[in-house]
Amino acid sequence: MAKKKRTIQEQSIDPAAQQMLIRAEELGISTAFTRADDLAPCNIGSAGMCCKICSMGPCRLTKDGQTGICGATIDTIQARNLIRAISGGAAAHSDHGRGMALTLKATANGEAEGYIIRDVAKLRTLASCYDIPIEGRSPEEIADELADLYIAQFGQQTGVIAPIRRAPEKRKKLWAEQGVLPRGIDREIVEALHRTHIGDDQDAEHIMQHAIRAALGDGWGGSLIATDISDILFGTPAPILGEANLGVLKDDMVNVVVHGHEPTLSEMIVAASQTPEIIEYAKAAGAKGVQLSGICCTANEILMRQGIPAAGNFLQQELSIMTGAVEAMVVDVQCIMQALVSLAENFHTNIITTSEKVKLKGATHIEFDEHKAMTIAKRILKEAIDNYKNRGETQIPDSRTDLVPGFSHE
Ligand code: SF4
Repeated sequence: MAKKKRTIQEQSIDPAAQQMLIRAEELGISTAFTRADDLAPCNIGSAGMCCKICSMGPCRLTKDGQTGICGATIDTIQARNLIRAISGGAAAHSDHGRGMALTLKATANGEAEGYIIRDVAKLRTLASCYDIPIEGRSPEEIADELADLYIAQFGQQTGVIAPIRRAPEKRKKLWAEQGVLPRGIDREIVEALHRTHIGDDQDAEHIMQHAIRAALGDGWGGSLIATDISDILFGTPAPILGEANLGVLKDDMVNVVVHGHEPTLSEMIVAASQTPEIIEYAKAAGAKGVQLSGICCTANEILMRQGIPAAGNFLQQELSIMTGAVEAMVVDVQCIMQALVSLAENFHTNIITTSEKVKLKGATHIEFDEHKAMTIAKRILKEAIDNYKNRGETQIPDSRTDLVPGFSHE
């Protein structure tokens, strides 16, 4: 059953979003805002009481005391659903950390085109923390050994992952007492899937104990590794002036919106957009240059490190295309709506997927490879610039907000 349709003012308090939602309504185009009104969430699914773990089900439990065909109770089913959600998130963010570790390794060995070690002080601090010798060694030698240590955390089978040593002593003691210290980043995710296979762990508290271990393997493993390497390769953020909202798009420039999670690609697109080759290419196409902006987590990455403006958050990915002013939306992994491709068909926007892990049916795929990063970044930007001539009527909200991002943990 459809939910009550909200007014545009109820859908968003942001004037820029409201303007784009009005435009969508006028053009008869659906967005996540209208689809959310059209789709009522399933009450059983919302409460985590639907189990699809084996082919005797799905078992949809609706009241206390009910069990699945195998006898699984509601709390077991809810715990299994929750740990699988945690494992999916931990896998995604940690896999990003793995990619960063491989990029650090390639950079250390001179195999990653366009990347350099920018924050040598952070590299040396981290290496010391892991007892990696730093005196008399080049940044590349240190980075090579640090990358090996990071890469090993993913496949480690026993013991405790190394980055845990950076946690406060009191917290580590508590985790040890509770038996939730992660042994290996990948191991905890695999074990979460094993435990939730039919006929395995059926004690909700025991399942949740492992959920915490898998989450810590990400938070103090994969995600921490990703952040540390981002600082080493792209610089530790410092306060910088920035702008946010759809008004950062420019009518007289080629607008390229980067969206997703991987700074390896977006940082290289930032660097490529500032090269004389790309600036001249854009001018030859009749634009004043290339205006980069970000959506979602990628926006945060390039905003806090480079001051590149943020066009918006997760919910503005569709609305940025609604402006009609985006030549290319370049996506990598995570938070990318499948709706982008069909939405973009109403405008001239080229949706470009770049990750070997993520394709969208109907999108242009230009696969990113850190070994040829600058070459690929320039190719993507030229695709966007070539699309400038296809731009139709635009409507960019005159709405942007100044902000000061870049307050890092360091
Ligand atoms: S594992 Fe049990 S509760 Fe889940 S689908 Fe199978 S029979 Fe149903």
